[in-house]
Amino acid sequence: MITHQEISEILARYDESRISFATMCSHSALQIFHGARLEGFRTIGICTPSRRRVYEAFPLAKPDVFIEVREFADVLNDSVQQRLRELNAVVVPHGSFVEYVGADKLLKEFAVPMFGNRLTLEWEGSREKMYRWLGEAGVELPREVGSPSRISSPCLVKFPGAKGGRGMFVASSPEEFEQKVKEMVSRGLISPEEAQRPVIQELVVGVRYYPHFFYTPLFSNGYRVADGRLELLGIDRRIESNIDELHRVVTASRGGSWPEPSYVVTGNLPMVVREALLEKLFDIASSVVEASLKLFPPGMIGPFCVETICTPDLDFVVFEVSARIVAGTNLYPMGSPYSHFLFDEPMSTGRRIAREVREASKRGRLSEVVY
Ligand code: AMP
Repeated sequence: MITHQEISEILARYDESRISFATMCSHSALQIFHGARLEGFRTIGICTPSRRRVYEAFPLAKPDVFIEVREFADVLNDSVQQRLRELNAVVVPHGSFVEYVGADKLLKEFAVPMFGNRLTLEWEGSREKMYRWLGEAGVELPREVGSPSRISSPCLVKFPGAKGGRGMFVASSPEEFEQKVKEMVSRGLISPEEAQRPVIQELVVGVRYYPHFFYTPLFSNGYRVADGRLELLGIDRRIESNIDELHRVVTASRGGSWPEPSYVVTGNLPMVVREALLEKLFDIASSVVEASLKLFPPGMIGPFCVETICTPDLDFVVFEVSARIVAGTNLYPMGSPYSHFLFDEPMSTGRRIAREVREASKRGRLSEVVY
């Protein structure tokens, strides 16, 4: 494990007046580059050759420097890490970054300063740890069905490694469960070992909200949590294929047989919640931050998303936490209906990250928000 001390020593050798922001050209990179540029930072895009054109297509979000790699996992190569440190880079880990490289490898092999507390990667990376974190926070989770033999109503079955809607299925009986697990193993979607560790949850019916929060230890005016401030920067809803369009089959087939539902994220829609519900969302997010401070100090720093389903009783059930910038923030490059009440200038999550680094550097507290 690369320690906080090691990263702080690297940071101490940085020229803080020449910090640059780096990330992998994918996920929310355009927003991260655009935001860093608005805050006056140089930007670095880690890119595969075929992607470069896409990032050159947006001059205001194009990184100043490209570091080309054959494949994204090559970011771990010594030469790439060395180059990033030479450029005084602070790396912003986004969902694809973590997925392509692997949380474990980032923790053990990536000796470049990253924005936030890299220990969060470990806590969100495995379902077991994530549920422990959410359990410690005391938020409402989907009811768990302990064993496949107890499935008696529609349940969502998830597996340890597979996240983001892949390798999941719905089962309403023990028989359906057995048959679908076998199918998934034979199609290579999950390993036989993973098949032994299913998480079987009630299928919660309601409306999904994915609020984008930001926790800063540097500011305390606003919604106070511990010694810092919790900010709500936006809300989205993911659009998942094919579940979000499955109702169309009814019209098309007039009740014939239905395809299997799947939950693969393909895009995002902007959302706002009824204002009376903001209190509940802030309560949930503040518990998540407080639990993180206990479990892995200095806890959840920077952007995170609590993924919720709002039931008809207006309760929020939390099914996941993403402890980093989420792609739904791409909806708001110039701010959201919530960020307007926090900042009197356009503020995306990407820009907010850059602002935090600038502020921390100004106060001599960079190593508190970078690890
Ligand atoms: P996950 O891999 O946990 O992010 O789940 C992927 C998608 O499955 C989510 O975005 C939701 O649409 C859906 N989902 C996850 N858990 C539940 C649940 N317990 N009940 C209903 N839908 C869920």
